[in-house]
Amino acid sequence: MKAMVLKEISLTEMEPLQMMDLPDPHPGPGEVLVKISACGVCHTELDEIEGRIQPRLPVVLGHEIIGRVAGMGKGVLKLNAGDRVGIAWINSACGKCRFCREGNENLCPEFKGTGCDTDGGYAQYTVVSEDFAFPISERFSDAQAAPLLCAGAIGYRDLKLAGIKPNQTLGLFGFGASAHIVIQVARHWGCKVFVFTRSEEHRDLAETLGAAWTGGTEDEPPEKLHCVIDFTPVGETVPNALRNLEKGGRLVIAVIRKRNPIPPLDYARYLWDEREIKSVANITREDLHNFLPLAAEIPIIPEVREFELKEANKALMLLKEGKIRGAGVLRMPD
Ligand SMILES: [Zn+2]
Ligand SMILES: [Zn+2]
Repeated sequence: MKAMVLKEISLTEMEPLQMMDLPDPHPGPGEVLVKISACGVCHTELDEIEGRIQPRLPVVLGHEIIGRVAGMGKGVLKLNAGDRVGIAWINSACGKCRFCREGNENLCPEFKGTGCDTDGGYAQYTVVSEDFAFPISERFSDAQAAPLLCAGAIGYRDLKLAGIKPNQTLGLFGFGASAHIVIQVARHWGCKVFVFTRSEEHRDLAETLGAAWTGGTEDEPPEKLHCVIDFTPVGETVPNALRNLEKGGRLVIAVIRKRNPIPPLDYARYLWDEREIKSVANITREDLHNFLPLAAEIPIIPEVREFELKEANKALMLLKEGKIRGAGVLRMPD
């Protein structure tokens, strides 16, 4: 099969992924072979390429995978050949530890990330346990469905952890693939959404999707915010977000790593009055089982820009520069 492979930690500017011919993977017991049609491009890939999180090397990146079941290992019970499925960041968890038993499999010490600890979706084929493959509604094309698996589902987890209630005010810092889906869910719940981003094009998209206000990351919105989700890779947005939080409000930081440190936070100014900060780590299968049907029901239609597999380096560079409107998706060769 054709695959774009990362061999060593590098800068994204160096075009680090190489097109290679790899042997087709074989499904083990309980696993399915998936012929991939589309795979989303996510910020986590930039963290892997640049070494802020450590992937296994060499590795095939990609964890927003859409494809069809093309083969089955022994003991597969739930899926059939030809079924359309999605594969997300959660590739496996142990199922036995305290975190797994309490419904927090995202925190499992044995958690394995697709396209990080295992080969992922920047390829024509992959294998996955049938328990970690998700049915995809016919409402979505392959390319539209791909960003739902991480940008969408993690965004849904961010909203849940933010504790947002219907009709409250929500701030979004950064307006990339995840935020443009989050705003559609929040609007569906009647929330008023305030979007902070430098990019004119991203502000434009936010207004099209129903933002009540848009501005820069230093600007002050016309109302205090009950919840804020920070999608940016920089530290400075944290005090900016806390400044605009309502008493008792919560800031959720939705990235795996910040590129630079969070500036010192004056307690009285930024945290007093029961303001909270929470991070988000990984995702559970329950998040996906809750979010995917909701996305079909609303319906959420992600804005996608498609690239060919061989253009993966270019797509990642545009993502790093914040130049993709909505979500980037790679299309696999037949
Ligand atoms: Zn992701
Ligand atoms: Zn576990």
